[in-house]
Formats: sequence, structure tokens, C-alpha cells
Amino acid sequence: MSTSYNFDSFQSLLSVDGNINAIIIGLITVGLITIITIMAYSFENILKTNNNTAYRIILELIEGTVLAISMFLLQHIFKALNSGDMRSWFYATAQLTILLYSLYMMKNHVIEIMNIIAPIYIFGYRAITGYNNYLLLFTLLIILLAVTIVYISRHTDLILNSEWRFVLLQTIYGGIWWIIIWPFHKFTLYYTFNMLIGFVVYMSVIRFLAKWIKDSFNNYNNLSEKVNYDELTGIRNRASFDEVSQEVFKVYSREPDVPLTIAMFDIDHFKNFNDTYGHLAGDKVLRHVAAHFEHQLFRKTTRGQLFRYGGEEFVIIFRGLTADESAKIIREIRNELINDPLDYNGQELNIRVSFGVTELQETDTSFKDFFGRVDSYLYESKDSGRNRMTVENKIIRFGKGL
Ligand code: GH3
Ligand code: MG
Ligand code: MG
Repeated sequence: MSTSYNFDSFQSLLSVDGNINAIIIGLITVGLITIITIMAYSFENILKTNNNTAYRIILELIEGTVLAISMFLLQHIFKALNSGDMRSWFYATAQLTILLYSLYMMKNHVIEIMNIIAPIYIFGYRAITGYNNYLLLFTLLIILLAVTIVYISRHTDLILNSEWRFVLLQTIYGGIWWIIIWPFHKFTLYYTFNMLIGFVVYMSVIRFLAKWIKDSFNNYNNLSEKVNYDELTGIRNRASFDEVSQEVFKVYSREPDVPLTIAMFDIDHFKNFNDTYGHLAGDKVLRHVAAHFEHQLFRKTTRGQLFRYGGEEFVIIFRGLTADESAKIIREIRNELINDPLDYNGQELNIRVSFGVTELQETDTSFKDFFGRVDSYLYESKDSGRNRMTVENKIIRFGKGL
């Protein structure tokens, strides 16, 4: 591979290709932009749940590699399309677009460094090979470009939401680039201006696309969150339970050797919290109970999934656990809840809970049979005095204070 065509690519920036190759390069650029976008979002999501430094560095390096491959691909496809001729402003614009777009999408130091190194590489190469007029001017320009790049990468959200900032920074970014290229390819001011306009238009279309993809992603995420999660407690809601429970029932009723247990619980005399301290206190109790169970379930087993069934009633689906195994976990979580009373404006709120627990039987022909049983067990706990757990017809009274 010869490095010379890197620079040849800028040689005939003046020849605007009105042919099909320009369209192909445009489509390829959009394809690369899409890949970069999807990757940036997926990695962002991974880091949201798994934010450790080693992970971050690995993902940043992957993003950097993808950007390098994109640039390389673009170069080679363009070369193939133009029978080895790299001269077109369109190609240079596509490269700059991918570089700048990555800077906006991937909040990533590797990309930042690649953006800073690219002009040094182009200019440095020429300086080493004997072209060192304007050395001071170009060193200053490269520093200015580096400052612009660092500014962009630190203020992406601000810039993406402000039309004039976006166009201004892009013009500075593109403008410096074209000046850096200028000593090797002395095009006229008129063409420089045209190229700059081309770059701004090109980037605006891509920015529109990126914003559209971003909004669609956000809408989709919010939608699925709204549909599946309870607004007050943040845990899965009734709609999610209806969906999951049907699926789980189907799978586990076919596998009689693998147990499936369901637990239902209801806060005792919950209405009293509302009546005595107000609805905000009631809400706080609900959030506290939900967060406690969610957190402790997560700590103790990966097999329990919590849902808010409605009001102050919750359900847990235990996959692969028997009723006794599930009851043991519930008892522990319940004891921890009781031992740590909730503070509400200096008042101690003593929360008590009643449970029903049952395991899937071969005689359960529908989910309704299974669920009906756990519901009736919860009522047995309530009827026999509350603060109890009924496991397969056996009522267990929690010990004194426990
Ligand atoms: P029991 O021991 O028999 O379960 O009595 P309880 O008071 O807990 O049950 P009841 O069904 O009489 O009252 C439940 C109350 O929960 C009535 C309803 O206003 C209240 N509630 C339901 N959803 C919410 C909510 O999201 N926030 C608040 N603050 N209250 C709620
Ligand atoms: Mg209740
Ligand atoms: Mg209730």
C-alpha cells in the first residue's frame, strides 16, 4: 500500500464528480454513519450498567478500530470506484464527515486523539519530506484544530442542540483542515469556499439523520419503559407481569422436573400510612418496599423477578426454585425489611407484610389455576391475622418482631 494517495486524494479537490460514484460514496458514508451510530448507542448502554475503567478502555479501543477501518474502507472503495484515482473533494468531505461525526457520537478519548493525529499525520508527512514552508503557521493551526476538537468532544450535547454552534464549529473544523491541505494543493479561494459549503451541507444532512436515529432510539426506550415499568416504584408493572407470567407458565408446565414458584405479597394495613401520614408517606412506603425487595432479591438469587401487581400488592416469580426454597429467601428479605424501619420525617414507620407462596403443579391446566392458588394463600395469611406467610396451605406466623 502506498501512502502517497492519502495526499493525492486532495489533489484534485476541484473536480466535482457529478457521476454515480459520488452517490455510491454518499451511500457508503451513510452506511458507515449508521454502523457508528448503532455501535455508539449499544456501547453507551453497556457502560450504563457496567461502568468500570477496563471495560470503558476496551470499548473505546473497539470504537477507534471501527473508525480506522471505516476510513480505510472508504479510501479503498473510492479508489476502486475511480480506477485508482483518489482525486475528488467528495472523497475528502466524506472522510472529514466520518471523523467529525465520530467525535460527536462516541464520547471517547481514542476518537479525540485520532482526530488530532490525522492532520499532524498529513502535515507532518509533508514537512518530513521536505515541505516546511509555513511551519509556524501550520503548527498554530493544528493546535487550534486540536483545541476545537477537544471543545467539541467535551460539549457535544450543547453543540448538537444549538444550530449556530454546530455550524460555527464545523466551519472552523473544516476551514482549518482545508488550510492545512492548501500548501500541497493550491486551489482557489472560490473552490475552498465551495468545498466548505459542501461539507456543511453534507454534515447537516447527516446531523439530521443522526438526530432522527437518536430520537427514534429514545422514543423506543421510553416507550418500552413506560409500557413495562411502574412509574412510582420503577419496578416491572402489571402489564409486564401479564406478559411474563404467560410465557413462563408455558415453558415450565412443559418441564415438570424444573420447579416454578410464585409469591404474592400485600402490605398490611397500608391504608393506615395514607390516613395517618398522608399519601406521600404511602408512596414512600411503596417505593421503599419495592426497592428493598428488588435489591435483596438481586443479591440473593438471580431467579426471582419482582412485579408491582397493583396498589400495595406485589408478585415474585421464582424460576427453578421450589416453594420451600423461595419461602426461605422471602423470609430473609422480609426480616431485613422489618429490622430496618423506614424513617418518614423523623417518624419510624413499621411496615408489615403478608405473603402467599405456591409452586406450579402438574394439575394446573392454566396460569389462572396457579395464580388463583397463590391469591387464596395470601388471603389465608390476611384472614388469620396478617404478618404471616402461607406456603402451600401451611400458615407460618412470623416470630415476635420477626
Ligand atoms: P390490608 O392489611 O387488608 O391489606 O389493608 P390495607 O389497608 O393494606 O388494604 P386496603 O385495600 O384497604 O387499602 C389499600 C390502599 O392503598 C387503598 C389505596 O388508596 C392505597 N393505594 C393504592 N395505590 C396507592 C399508591 O400508589 N400510593 C398510595 N399512597 N396509596 C395507594
Ligand atoms: Mg394491604
Ligand atoms: Mg391490597
